[in-house]
Amino acid sequence: MTLPVTTPRFAALGDPYSTAYPTRPLPTPTLLHLNVALAESLGIGPEDRATPEFASILAGNAPWPGFEPRASVYAGHQFGQFVPQLGDGRALLIAEIDDRAGRGHEIQLKGAGPTPYSRHADGRAVLRSSIREYLCSEAMHALGIPTTRALALIGSPQPVRRETIETAAVVCRVAPSFVRFGHFEFWYYRGEPERLQPLADHVIERHFPEFADRPDRYAAWLTEVVSRTARLMAQWQAVGFCHGVMNTDNFSALGLTIDYGPFGFLDAFDSHHICNHSDEGGRYAWDRQPVIGQWNCTKMLQACLPLLASEPKAAVEIAQPIADGYARAYGEAMIAAWRGKLGLQTAQDGDEGLINRWLSLLQGSRADFTRSWRHLSAVSSAEGSSADLVRDEIADIAAFDAWLPDYQARLRAEGSVDGERAARMNAVNPKYVLRNHLAQRAIERAEAGDAREVEHLFTLLSRPFDEQPEHEAYAAEPPPEARQIEVSCSS
Ligand code: AMP
Ligand code: MG
Repeated sequence: MTLPVTTPRFAALGDPYSTAYPTRPLPTPTLLHLNVALAESLGIGPEDRATPEFASILAGNAPWPGFEPRASVYAGHQFGQFVPQLGDGRALLIAEIDDRAGRGHEIQLKGAGPTPYSRHADGRAVLRSSIREYLCSEAMHALGIPTTRALALIGSPQPVRRETIETAAVVCRVAPSFVRFGHFEFWYYRGEPERLQPLADHVIERHFPEFADRPDRYAAWLTEVVSRTARLMAQWQAVGFCHGVMNTDNFSALGLTIDYGPFGFLDAFDSHHICNHSDEGGRYAWDRQPVIGQWNCTKMLQACLPLLASEPKAAVEIAQPIADGYARAYGEAMIAAWRGKLGLQTAQDGDEGLINRWLSLLQGSRADFTRSWRHLSAVSSAEGSSADLVRDEIADIAAFDAWLPDYQARLRAEGSVDGERAARMNAVNPKYVLRNHLAQRAIERAEAGDAREVEHLFTLLSRPFDEQPEHEAYAAEPPPEARQIEVSCSS
């Protein structure tokens, strides 16, 4: 193979930050899906992709020649409780590839065997959760939301015990960096603050070079991390994405969506929706995501205090305004996203009321989140004109009929042109999202040996804003029996 592969720069930080550990081969691995577009963008051409060597590497059955896989150590706040040591328990960094533009992409295998951080767990990932991560990370990318990517999905008949016996799979993930808030928390709470600086310097030099030469590089970087996290939360809210396990070890220092477990997209809108069956208290309910994002940022800032000043009091004085920036960044991004989804191009007094009334009428009707927003684009701004498509989604007709004239008046107040607005709205209100019942069907078929539905969903969700009339059924609400699907931390 003639790939532009290098030793991951993260590995140069050396042993305390990560540990070399071999992958553990799986029996008869099968390449269930390859993300050809991503492979191409990484410079992995057809000849390389066709080699048996490449397939073995993706499965973790052969190392990338000349490089030892590594697992990194991190800590994290899980459901509010600090856990001093987690780490890559089932993920191994196997290489870094520089794309044609010279940007580095870390290649990680999830499920390729235990590591020093597995904590008695098996180091495996089941096919079910691997399909979900594989499809959702690419669906999020297509929605324009920062995320880790997925290059390949490999299945194996190797049995894996969860609540039942399932089979193993490996997801080959790709990201500029997999560094999490928890990587910083690990050293801070361990009482080795001197370890923070090399880690932060690596992240800044590789991923935030614009701050590298500034005297306040750590403050500038953390300000950007907080702002990216706040904006990411607004993006999740806007498409009805629920992450499910917003622990600080699942929060990226680059502001990427990372670690797809018991996630879900809102179907019938309930702002208190809890997508993770294991989250009994609803800590990570949809409407709590923004405040949890903020809480996580404060944990990240706390862990990074020693970077900001040697005197704790002085460090807090620098950190506080950075933390305060979250609410502002989130508020601005969220109102802009809601306005965009309503097709509004200007900011006017009363917009927040209009948005909130629309959301409460969706809530009151338990209307389908994705379909209701999508169908709003067909509304005409003309006074007295009806809006049948979206009206059909709403059970509380009286509330809708009271709201509609105000929305139409608001559109007229900025001289909104129907066709243009519809095109704008359809570019931000997706028609297709990875609803649980769609993922579940693909999983059941793949478990029975047929991965074609994975391919089908992958292709469909790569164009979530396009009408794709031949796939109309994929835009439907879940059938009643599918509303019971439960997803939990088991993966
Ligand atoms: P998660 O909830 O998937 O983000 O995982 C939380 C922590 O548990 C991380 O440190 C994972 O690496 C680890 N972990 C989860 N599942 C496994 C597994 N099957 N084997 C080893 N480590 C695991
Ligand atoms: Mg995780």
